[in-house]
Amino acid sequence: MTEKVAAIIWFAGLVGWYIIRQPFERRAKKITVSQSLFGRRETTLLFIALFGLFFVPAVYVLTGFPATFDRPFIPAVALLGVVTLGAALWLFRRSHADLGRNWSISLEIRERHVLVTTGVYRHIRHPMYSSFFLLGIAQGFLLPNWFVGTAGLAGPGILFAFRVKREEQLMLTQFGEQYQAYMRTSKRLVPWIM
Ligand code: SAH
Repeated sequence: MTEKVAAIIWFAGLVGWYIIRQPFERRAKKITVSQSLFGRRETTLLFIALFGLFFVPAVYVLTGFPATFDRPFIPAVALLGVVTLGAALWLFRRSHADLGRNWSISLEIRERHVLVTTGVYRHIRHPMYSSFFLLGIAQGFLLPNWFVGTAGLAGPGILFAFRVKREEQLMLTQFGEQYQAYMRTSKRLVPWIM
């Protein structure tokens, strides 16, 4: 494993990410939204996540900026990055498949929205956000730069921190006691832990 190979794997992961999402985005356009909290606030949060998980690492890979934060390249750490990237892609794919027609890029209730509590949603309420964090961790392992690694965690971290309460409130308003019961038997991001 060399630095160049690790960078190529990081890029391939992003392409995989994009390919996984495409069919869901296409399908989502055809399903009526009955309630939406998608405004400037949510758009900004998405942009921040994209900044940390795409712009910062892309600039680094293309230009080497910011080189002041470079760390030594350790092949074993990069290999760990490959494994983490695989886990991120798997979870991203599974959470889309399990959420099905209820998926939205932002906070929305679709026509005939149902609460999903099975598959990867069984033990955690936000597996898709967990997959964002895994992607950020993979980025930090694959690209040997502390700034890029921090951005990989800060991007999804800010999205999650400012979105999760609103999302759970939306779910509680929509599903009431059913969501309360689900909250009692699940965690947010890591099964049985947090
Ligand atoms: N936070 C979840 C879903 C992200 S997609 C995750 O990380 O996996 C965001 C959309 O999913 C929101 O519009 C919300 O309405 C919907 N949603 C979130 N949890 C859901 C659930 N358990 N069942 C059905 N829809 C859900």
